[in-house]
Formats: sequence, structure tokens, C-alpha cells
Amino acid sequence: MRTIGLLGGMSWESTMLYYQLLNEGVRERFGGLHSAKILLHSVDFAQIERFQANGQWQEAGEQLADAAFGLQQAGADMILICTNLMHKVAPAIMAKIQVPLLHIADAAGRAISAQGLTRVGLLGTRYTMEEDFYRQRLKDKFGLDVLIPEAEDREYVHQVIFEDLCQGKFTAEARKNYLAIIEKLRDQGAQGVVLGCTEIPLLVRQEDIDLPLFNTTALHAQFALEYACAEADIGVA
Ligand code: GLU
Repeated sequence: MRTIGLLGGMSWESTMLYYQLLNEGVRERFGGLHSAKILLHSVDFAQIERFQANGQWQEAGEQLADAAFGLQQAGADMILICTNLMHKVAPAIMAKIQVPLLHIADAAGRAISAQGLTRVGLLGTRYTMEEDFYRQRLKDKFGLDVLIPEAEDREYVHQVIFEDLCQGKFTAEARKNYLAIIEKLRDQGAQGVVLGCTEIPLLVRQEDIDLPLFNTTALHAQFALEYACAEADIGVA
């Protein structure tokens, strides 16, 4: 079994999910006392969020690249960035390591394609919804048409992520509002919605709505499990 290197703490609420999902996945596969081989570098999220807010992406990239390099030196066979947003600096991280970086948008894209869908909505931080690093990858690699909420709704989704979800607050009101935004995306033609922020699955669940939701936290963990357990050629080099 390969060792999984996690860049976590962004926020730790969702990193906990990765830890649980990876261990559950190994137990399902091998049973008994088997558990996942994991190395975790968990950052102080306040520092990373400051870099984001100040537009200091280069500094953020350097910090995460150093952390990823450390994980590799400690024995990680792959790296996962446990947040959708910080894939914005994936190129800087990849430049610093030799082991594969398993990209979260690829985890989402292959699940969407496997269901035969071609048009999906995307919820996440403002950067993830509005910039190219994520949507363009879904478009280029998987041929997906990606819809995003209107400006006011984007602002709300972004604000809830930082002021509630990343601080461990999951309210009925935010859930109701998120579901209303997902409904609007459906009305615009979305055949499913990507929960493109690793904390959103803690707020909104598949059983809340009869539209396919793509839980990027779970799909990313699933992707890592396949590679860790060498189950399939998942196209990482
Ligand atoms: N965890 C969130 C994501 O998946 C946002 C937190 C962050 O990285 O700023 O995008």
C-alpha cells in the first residue's frame, strides 16, 4: 500500500473527513486492523487565508510546496491538497516534488463523466467559482460545461465558507440557502452540482436533494485510495 501525503488544515474540519474516509476505505478493502498509511502536514489556516486575502499566491504556493516536499522526503508516495481552492497554486507545488499530485478537479471530473453528465454547477470559494484554474481543467480534460451562481449568490457561498464552515458552524439557514442556490443552478440546466469546497459536504448532503451532488472531499479520497491500493491505472505519472 502506498503512503498518502496530505496537505491539510485548510480547514481542519475537512481534513478530518479525509482522515476518516481514507481509513474507512482501507478497512473496506482489507478488513481487520488495516488502516491507511498517511502523512499529514496541517497548516495554520489563518496564515494561508491572509495570503489569499492579500493576493499573495506566490507566498502561499511556496509555503505549501515546502510542506509537500517535506511530506515527500518523509516517505509520501503521492500528495493531496485537501482543499479545492489551493489547487490554484498546484503548479508551484508540482514543480517542487517528484511524486504525483492527485488533483481534486480530476477526481470530480472523472466521477461526473462516469455518470455521463456534461453540464454541472459549481459551488466553492469565490476564486474557485470565478477563476480558470478549476473550471478550465474540468472543461479541458473532461469536456464539461460549468455553470456558476449569480454574483450575489457567489458572495454568499464564499462568505459562509470562511465565516461558518471553516469555523465549524453548520446552520440550518445556510443549508437552506445553499440548497436554494443549487436549485437555481438546476433551473439553468445543471445536471449535477460540484461541491467544490471540501467543507460543503459537511453542510449539504446528497439526501437533501434529488440532483446528483459531487462531493469533492469524498471523490478526492477515493482517487487516493485507488492509487494507494494500486487498483487501477488512474493516469497519474
Ligand atoms: N476548503 C475550501 C476549499 O476546498 C476552502 C478553504 C481554503 O482553502 O481556503 O476550497
